[in-house]
Amino acid sequence: MHVTGTFTVEPSYPPSLAPLATLAQNLRWVWDGPTQDLFATLAPQQWAATLDPLETLRTAPQDRIDALGVDEGYLARVDAAAEDLRRYLDEPRWAAGIPGGARAVAYFSMEFGVSQTLPNYSGGLGILAGDHLKAASDLGVPLVALGLMYRSGYFKQTLSADGWQQEQYPQLDPSRLPLTPVLLSDGQQLTVSVTLDRGRVLHAIVWRADVGRVPLLLLDADVDANEPDLRSVTDRLYGGDAEHRLRQEILLGIGGVRAARAYCDLTGHPGIEVFHANEGHAGFLGLERTRELMAEQDLTFDEALALARCSTVFTTHTPVPAGIDRFPADLVRRYFGDGETCVLLPTVGLERMIALGAEADPGVFNMAHMGFRLAQRANGVSRLHGEVSREMFAGLWPDLVPSEVPIGSVTNGVHRGTWAARAVRESLSDPLTVPSDVLWGVRNTQRANLVDEVRTRTRAAWRDRGAVDAELGWTERMFDPDVLTIGFARRVSTYKRLTLMLREPDRLRRLLLDPERPIQVVIAGKSHPADDGGKHLLQQLIGFIDDPAIRHRIAFLPNYSIGMAGYLYHGCDVWLNNPLRPLEACGTSGMKSALNGGLNLSVLDGWWDELYDGENGWAIPSAVGLDPSRRDDIEAAALYDLLENDVVPAFYGQRDEQGVPKQWLAKVRHTLAVTGPEVTADRMVREYTMDYYRPAAQSYRATAPHIRELAAFADRIHAAWDDVAVQDSAATVGPAGVTLTADVALGGLAVGEVRVEAVLGPLDEAGALEGTSTVQLAPARAGADGTVRYQATVSSPVGHFGFTARVLPRHELLSGPAELGLVRYAK
Ligand SMILES: *Cc1c(COP(=O)(O)O)cnc(C)c1O
Repeated sequence: MHVTGTFTVEPSYPPSLAPLATLAQNLRWVWDGPTQDLFATLAPQQWAATLDPLETLRTAPQDRIDALGVDEGYLARVDAAAEDLRRYLDEPRWAAGIPGGARAVAYFSMEFGVSQTLPNYSGGLGILAGDHLKAASDLGVPLVALGLMYRSGYFKQTLSADGWQQEQYPQLDPSRLPLTPVLLSDGQQLTVSVTLDRGRVLHAIVWRADVGRVPLLLLDADVDANEPDLRSVTDRLYGGDAEHRLRQEILLGIGGVRAARAYCDLTGHPGIEVFHANEGHAGFLGLERTRELMAEQDLTFDEALALARCSTVFTTHTPVPAGIDRFPADLVRRYFGDGETCVLLPTVGLERMIALGAEADPGVFNMAHMGFRLAQRANGVSRLHGEVSREMFAGLWPDLVPSEVPIGSVTNGVHRGTWAARAVRESLSDPLTVPSDVLWGVRNTQRANLVDEVRTRTRAAWRDRGAVDAELGWTERMFDPDVLTIGFARRVSTYKRLTLMLREPDRLRRLLLDPERPIQVVIAGKSHPADDGGKHLLQQLIGFIDDPAIRHRIAFLPNYSIGMAGYLYHGCDVWLNNPLRPLEACGTSGMKSALNGGLNLSVLDGWWDELYDGENGWAIPSAVGLDPSRRDDIEAAALYDLLENDVVPAFYGQRDEQGVPKQWLAKVRHTLAVTGPEVTADRMVREYTMDYYRPAAQSYRATAPHIRELAAFADRIHAAWDDVAVQDSAATVGPAGVTLTADVALGGLAVGEVRVEAVLGPLDEAGALEGTSTVQLAPARAGADGTVRYQATVSSPVGHFGFTARVLPRHELLSGPAELGLVRYAK
């Protein structure tokens, strides 16, 4: 029969069940078990199939709704959950007790991974941003988040019969997502506009997702008001060419500030004091804020820029130059230029604006460099990554030695409520005292759940590859709930070395097929659609896995997502990570595994470099400096050695009468108790709040009334700096200690406008200072030739030391002596 049309009937809900709509709309359900249970009770099948409260509400059977609408037990649970949410949203939380904290913080990111029901992420960066919002909500940190609403999100991954990655881009319908239109008083949806090339205007409507207490505002360009080609600006995450990407980033940075301002005006939300750019993508926000300050406070470009910097935080996430977002400078000129001037800042020359993104290559506009130039505070995402970033970006502060480059670090963390299995949160709250059989029982249950999931997903994947059920009987018996289970899941990026484990295929095969003590391995990850190299690695892996002799012990699960990731982190005994050190800025998947008692087996990179303690897993050594192929050989061999000699024996050995592996469980306990608290997003957001957001807000408040003075100071310093010099310096050992002196030519600056320091320390074999400390010298008297003598007397241990003297600008409104990047050393 021919279908002439379609229609949809949605169920209707009695008033007694009205709170379910609120509970489904706020994404806090993601980390609230009792709320999830309400939807599971309402429509078990729909819930199990979607894990989506809104979809469950839309498809629940009417008779079930009618029955529950008068079921006192169920209604009591609904009311309790609604009351709990209300309290969660309203009560004062941790941040309320911080004196002088930022009134509100705008957090910008290109992607947000909050829930699989809002596909707005591709990988770690987005998940991190999602976890940041959740932890900020739990802590009551007043965040407003800004992102883009991609009509197709990232892609959905399947495999062809021959193991080649296929990408699908299903269209999302905002009305079916956990989004609410942000409405003006006249009922129209809030729209922001930005100017592109040739004066063309791009419009975007604003949606809001509620992540607990945090509003996540998403800008959506798919509106009638846009010219047809501009409607697709927010079609996909990380799709399209450089120009497409530039348009997205202009919308995110500039449109994002405008959306945040309008949102606060509309809702009475406290105005934004601090702006946090998660990666360089949103860097244009600093330009928009400079524009605002020039217009509102009648400041010059330099003054406005300096003030905007005070309250901007920039987080860099990549330790590889190739990972940085860079545009052809001429493309940026075309989008921001109107002849000689900048369209956004009409009194400012275009080249001044372009210089903000300058790097070694004059043809390139570098978004990370702009990020640093527009933010007074910047950080990497693990201790090691902080170090690497100070080296990598040292060129932006040419007078400073790398250890003094003003880039700090906040080690990433993961949201416990989201990533720890419910059984872990509810029955292992004190991991040190929980009985061994209970702990082992939870681990076994989680592993068994993962095995079920592997079977289901493997069967579905083979159907997608063209197999029929009759040949898939083996998937019902694949994997074993009692076998040591190793997980490896992350984006397929070359440096993450998906295929390192295949370096000696026979050795891996022996581990998988050991008759007594086998391992099983579950793998997932997407390759960027334009990365054929990554797709070849994936295909190579699939070729290995497809072998009927081993496919019951090793599986690749297509379409890695938040929903699947939960099973992996909950169920794997060991989490494997083998990047090329130091290219993993932090890595977070291993943290999620650790929260569940998984043991990490990882190269000492990112977070593991700082938190591996000998008890919580194993460190794969790095053969840094060798040619890549030899390095892979050596590191892969070390990985197999660890598996054969340490990991496998610890898992299967020393079992007690109940079959509990004692040595293993001791490591699990230690990981839960000691590593767990260190890897949470709660710890991370507290650090951002105390070490970045509050100082940034205070810096802005202190600087705003004096910005002209500070700008004049910076001008004076720059004009005088060529004439500033250390003419002479000396160290004299006397009975009172070592007296250090420096005779400084001030080039017309006042004595108090510079800071003079001696830098001293032991000498290495080459005669250079190592392990330096600095001593501030105080002005003492006039030196020779119109110089000023600065001096200090310090005690010193016995030994032979070197020293030098240097001059830096000094002003109480600078964030530190490194801020202007100027240092003059003694010749
Ligand atoms: C945690 C997570 C990532 C990031 O993993 P890394 O080890 O940091 O690369 C990527 N995708 C998903 C779905 C995740 O949950």
